[in-house]
Amino acid sequence: MKKAVILGGGESGVGAAVLAKVQHFDTFLSDSGSLKENFRSELQKWDIPFEEGGHSADRILGADLVIKSPGIPETAPLVVKLHEQGTPVISEIEFAGYYDTAKKICITGSNGKTTTTSLIYYLLQNAGLNVGLGGNIGKSYAMQVATEKHDIYVLELSSFQLDGMYDFKADIAVLMNITPDHLDRYDHCFQNYINAKFRITRNMRPEDCFIFCNDDEVTIGELNKIVIQAQKLPFTQNGIVEEGAWLEDDRMRVRYQGDEFDILVNELSLEGRHNVYNSMAAAITGKIMKVTNETIRRSLTTFEGVEHRMEKVLSVGGVLYINDSKATNVNSTWYALESVQTPIVLILGGTDKGNDYAPIADLVREKVKAIVCLGVDNKKIHDFFGSIVPTICDTLSAGECVQKCAELAAPGDTVLLSPCCASFDLFKNYEDRGRQFKEAVRKL
Ligand code: ADP
Repeated sequence: MKKAVILGGGESGVGAAVLAKVQHFDTFLSDSGSLKENFRSELQKWDIPFEEGGHSADRILGADLVIKSPGIPETAPLVVKLHEQGTPVISEIEFAGYYDTAKKICITGSNGKTTTTSLIYYLLQNAGLNVGLGGNIGKSYAMQVATEKHDIYVLELSSFQLDGMYDFKADIAVLMNITPDHLDRYDHCFQNYINAKFRITRNMRPEDCFIFCNDDEVTIGELNKIVIQAQKLPFTQNGIVEEGAWLEDDRMRVRYQGDEFDILVNELSLEGRHNVYNSMAAAITGKIMKVTNETIRRSLTTFEGVEHRMEKVLSVGGVLYINDSKATNVNSTWYALESVQTPIVLILGGTDKGNDYAPIADLVREKVKAIVCLGVDNKKIHDFFGSIVPTICDTLSAGECVQKCAELAAPGDTVLLSPCCASFDLFKNYEDRGRQFKEAVRKL
């Protein structure tokens, strides 16, 4: 019996462990921290041995195959040792791919992954297809491969998941954009991160499709250097393409194999330029999957969006409050600012991942009347925006922050939580930050 060791006991690790067990591996899961109760009982239910609070090196180094959580860096000492001795270390997605014959639609990018993945899933469900949703979102892909049967999977893939993928092949790969992110995990080398994102195209063949943003300079720069077997389908908001998606007057148009679809941009349920890209990627996927124009239209006009992404919370006293807590980098905040057409009170701050605020300076100058910082250390924000925005103040809780925003905003303004930063200084995660913000707004 082959020995599989799973490193990390979160959603993906537990799913991988169950799949390994179902596939008759001698399975063991090891987590250096403590497991959540629901994962512990899942492992017990499947009779899978595990350890918490440390790794037994001997047992791990004796594995035939190691499935590593994307949260564990390649530089972790045990992972380095496994590589040195030639033990395969793969991701949960790679592993599940070995046992899955379904069609795989995979989405990656620096921003827009969750929105686009959810939209494509919604569209295919509306088409009546038997489709599963997984990857970086919801229930793990491996668990579904172990216990369910779908004809199609829509998978959101982070660069960390892609790092552990070798033989996996997507039938349709979608690359939304590439902007610097997570560089701490890529030796502070942007090219390494680009390479990770492009792993989504590995093993693709001419009958497969690669959907990408023609307006993204980094993507195009890379495409000029490498050869991709798959059929290339660009989407763009500048100019026209032969196949793919583009804008013409006030319409979004899509063409695939001579077949066309078009829709008025202001009919799309998701607002903002970034969401036009997301809708384009979904519509191209719909055409490839032979979904009818009627279903594509219904999906793009009724999709309700995903929590914490430009989510309209409430209007209070004529002021609209928007929760974009998921905007943890400068690029996503750029799109948020771009899509709001009123004066803005902007909430910034949190854990800075090495931000350069220059790309949003012009939009802030033009639209933002006040910045309310929600973070422990706001010096960088004061230094950068001090000469651009007349009012900048500091707050340390969602309640205090929303109160301050309400004082500063006038009827007709928008209060926008789109912080450019991670949330770990004051909150558990971005979801916690978004929920606390919404609660505070509802209390106004
Ligand atoms: P991801 O899963 O890649 O983090 P999300 O769909 O969760 O992406 O969106 C994250 C943030 O990026 C949100 O603040 C959202 O408003 C913004 N965003 C969404 N789509 C795009 C896009 N195509 N380009 C840039 N920013 C985007």
